[in-house]
Amino acid sequence: MDKQQEFVLRTLEERDIRFVRLWFTDVLGFLKSVAVAPAELEGAFDEGIGFDGSAIEGFARVYESDMIAKPDPGTFQILPWRAEAPGTARMFCDILMPDGSPSFADPRFVLKRILAKTSDLGFTFYTHPEIEFFLLKQKPVDGSRPVPADSSGYFDHTPQNIGMDFRRQAITMLESMGISVEFSHHEGAPGQQEIDLRYADALSTADNIMTFRLVMKQVALEQGVQATFMPKPFSEFPGSGMHTHLSLFEGDRNAFYESGAEFQLSKVGRSFIAGLLRHAGEISAVTNQWVNSYKRIWGGSKRTAGAGGEAPSYICWGHNNRSALVRVPLYKPGKTGSTRVEVRSLDTGANPYLAYAVLLAAGLKGIEGGYELPAGADDDVWALSDAERRSLGIEPLPQNLGEAIDLMERSELVAETLGEHVFDFFLRNKKQEWEEYRSEVTPFELRKNLPVL
Ligand code: GLU
Ligand code: MG
Ligand code: MG
Repeated sequence: MDKQQEFVLRTLEERDIRFVRLWFTDVLGFLKSVAVAPAELEGAFDEGIGFDGSAIEGFARVYESDMIAKPDPGTFQILPWRAEAPGTARMFCDILMPDGSPSFADPRFVLKRILAKTSDLGFTFYTHPEIEFFLLKQKPVDGSRPVPADSSGYFDHTPQNIGMDFRRQAITMLESMGISVEFSHHEGAPGQQEIDLRYADALSTADNIMTFRLVMKQVALEQGVQATFMPKPFSEFPGSGMHTHLSLFEGDRNAFYESGAEFQLSKVGRSFIAGLLRHAGEISAVTNQWVNSYKRIWGGSKRTAGAGGEAPSYICWGHNNRSALVRVPLYKPGKTGSTRVEVRSLDTGANPYLAYAVLLAAGLKGIEGGYELPAGADDDVWALSDAERRSLGIEPLPQNLGEAIDLMERSELVAETLGEHVFDFFLRNKKQEWEEYRSEVTPFELRKNLPVL
C-alpha cells in the first residue's frame, strides 16, 4: 500500500467517515457515483470495485458490461456538506476493464492518454477556467421560461443580491476541498455568476470542474435557488462560457514565453494558437456539445454585447480582442510564467476531460506541424461584413450542432484523440440529439406561422 492510500485509510478512521463515494464521469460529462463502506476500500485500492457499465452513457455494450472503478487516492476529499461525523468523502476513479487494462470509454483516460503524449514531448499542460453559470429561482422542466434568482448585472454589488452570499459560501466550500479560487463576480446577465479557478494541471482542473458543478448545485439548493450550467438559458441575455487559459511548461519554464517577441509569445505559443484555430471547427462538437451551445455563440446582436454577450462566432485570434476565439491576454511585465492563451468558445455544458483533450490535441498538432500563425484580428470581428471577414480569411465557427457533427465526423484529429469507442458513441449520441431537435415543431414556428398562415 502506498503513502496516499495509507493517508486515506487513516483519515477515514480519524474523521469517522462512514461513506466513501467513488466518482467517475460518463462520456457526456455527467458525474456518476457509487458509495462504498470504508471496510471495502483496501480492496478497492488493490482491485477496484466492479459495476455494470452498460447502464452508463457511452460506457459499454451489454455483452461487455463488467467494469471496474479504481479510486485515485490523490483525489481524496471530505464532502464539506457531509463533514460532520459520520461523514462522507469522495475520490475520483479510473475505469478499468475486467482484465485490469484502462477502459477506452473513460473520459479521464482519454485526457490522461494525450497528457502522456504531451509529457513525452517534454511539456506539462496547465489550464485555468473561468466558469460562468446561472442561479435560477427554479428549474422548470416543462419547457417554460426559467426565472433568474436576481436582477443584478456585471460586477454589481448590491445588498439584496443573492449572488454575494452564494459566492461566499460556494468559495469557502471549494477551498475546503482543495480547489483554489482566483476571482469571482456577478456576470452580465441577471442571475449569472462567474467563479475562476486557479490554474492547475489539466487533469486536476477537469476533476475540479466536475466537483465545482456539484458544489454549485449543492450550495444553490441550500440557499433555496437552483444552479444551471446550460450554455444559454435565455434568448435575450448572454450565455455561460467556460473560457479557459492554456499554457505549456517545459520544467519550470513557460514554453509560450519569449522575451522581446510580439506579445512575448514564443514560436511554440504561436504554433499552438495556429493549431487551435485550424482545428477549431472539427473540435467544436466536443467543446460545445449541445444544440443549445450554438445559441450562445450565435445568439443575438453581437454589436450590442447584449444577447450575443461576447461569445466568439468567428475563428480568429487577437490581443485583448474579446470578439476573438483565442485571446492573448495582456503581458504583465516580469511575469514570464503568466504568458498564456485564452480559448473563449468552450461552454460550461462540456465534458471537461474530453474538451481539454481535443483543445490540447489541436494545439500540439500546431506545434508538431510547425503551423504558421495567421495575422491577428484587431477589429471587432462581429462588426465586420461577411465580405470583409472573407477577405481577412476569417471563417465562422459551426452555426449549429449539425454542422459541428459533420466536421467532427471527418476529423482524424478528433478520432485519434477520443479513440474509436468514444468517437463513435459521441457521434451517435449527438446525431440523435440533432435529429430530435431538427424534427421538432418549435414555439417559434407556432408563434410566427399560426397567426398568419
Ligand atoms: N458570457 C460570455 C460568454 O458566453 C463571456 C463574458 C466575458 O467576457 O466574461 O462567453
Ligand atoms: Mg466572464
Ligand atoms: Mg474571459
